[in-house]
Amino acid sequence: MSSGFNAFQMAQQQFDAIANKLDLDQATKDLLRNPMREYHFSIPVRMDDGKYKVFFGFRVLHNDARGPGKGGIRFDPHETVDDVRALATWMTWKTAVVDIPLGGGKGGVICDPREMSPREVEAICRGYIRQVVKNVGPLQDVPAPDVMTTGQYMLWMLDEYETIVGEKSPGFITGKPLGSGGSLGRTEATGYGVIYCVREALKELNIDIKNTTASFQGFGNVSQHAIKLYDQYGGTIKAISSWDNNAKTAYTYLKKDGINVEELLGITDRFGQIDTDKAKDLGYEILPGSAWIEQDVDIIIPAALANQINADTAPRISPAVKMLAEGANGPTTPEADEIIKSKGLWVIPDFLANAGGVTCSYFEQVQCNMNFFWEKDEVLTKLDAKMTNAYKAVSDLARSKKLYPRDAAYHISIQRVADACKKRGWV
Ligand code: NAD
Repeated sequence: MSSGFNAFQMAQQQFDAIANKLDLDQATKDLLRNPMREYHFSIPVRMDDGKYKVFFGFRVLHNDARGPGKGGIRFDPHETVDDVRALATWMTWKTAVVDIPLGGGKGGVICDPREMSPREVEAICRGYIRQVVKNVGPLQDVPAPDVMTTGQYMLWMLDEYETIVGEKSPGFITGKPLGSGGSLGRTEATGYGVIYCVREALKELNIDIKNTTASFQGFGNVSQHAIKLYDQYGGTIKAISSWDNNAKTAYTYLKKDGINVEELLGITDRFGQIDTDKAKDLGYEILPGSAWIEQDVDIIIPAALANQINADTAPRISPAVKMLAEGANGPTTPEADEIIKSKGLWVIPDFLANAGGVTCSYFEQVQCNMNFFWEKDEVLTKLDAKMTNAYKAVSDLARSKKLYPRDAAYHISIQRVADACKKRGWV
């Protein structure tokens, strides 16, 4: 995440604002504004050139009152423990808002898999598990993929875990490849979940999705599937911003008449990076990376990074925009929230909008435990029902109590987790 911005401070600031309104006692506040456990470790790896290199990793368990910890592992050269703490905290609120019996965890390694061979990445995956094996597991804390980690990485991690514990344990990790314990629908789940919420929100506003336009930041897992479903529903995608690792900068790829998703996917690599020269040849306007936010569209969907809508960028949101649906974790700062409130945008907050991923991960665990796997339609139908119910609960509370939707979602989650801690006799 970008320098100067501290995601964990932001997560605590968001929590404090609601905790004060909910009248929580001091012990509950202290418990919920901090992680319950965290592990910091070194992972030595023999690189392909024969030299050894040490990578630094983290696993943070924010709260497990409602069930085992749940959260992805990121590989990112800019990872910090405060990012991981923030993301673990948001996982607690996310699992609570969709009401699944899991808590919040997160992990990370400071590394750049784009610059490493598959063998080197596999060594990091296996080394990560060797360091945390005593503190993770299907009944303790369940990892998953996140930014720049894939199903293949999860399988290497699962294999290392099962080798050490001496038994098959497919519910230990989620986001596994299909045929190796993965669930149909998991790849689509996060992006689809964002659009299920957008669909419900547009219904409430009496707007036909077919008459809407949208601009996205990111063209990776979340964004690509959100874009595909939004396209299927008949919406028009005008702009997509993505990182170009050759130019070491982000660009916004614009087509005012609407982007052809399959065409764009044809010139995109596995890290969600679009080939800028080919995009120019296909007639895309190439704008600066931040231009996605200032397009005259109905819906803006940040689905790449944290801290993208802040005090500097929020004023650039076009007056045409009616809705902000947050695919990424932590894309909007509390300062930007104030600007967004004054602009009157309807917000679908990150830990609700992008909860489809963890919901489907939960379904994956359930299927692994039963050793019986559902058809894709069944998974997506169950996902749609969970996301729609969670969205409606947040929207109903926001409208009935005149709350900002992010605050309404926090009210529901924090109250559920605080109740679970209290019933267990922790505070
Ligand atoms: P990803 O690595 O698949 O894709 C990231 C995308 O962001 C890529 O297209 C990349 O080019 C783009 N990007 C990177 N830097 C950029 C920049 N400066 N400007 C514009 N684009 C940039 O990641 P993902 O899995 O799609 O995750 C995206 C966000 O969603 C993250 O915040 C992640 O924590 C969150 N999230 C992901 C999941 C999931 O299931 N994958 C679930 C919940 C939340």
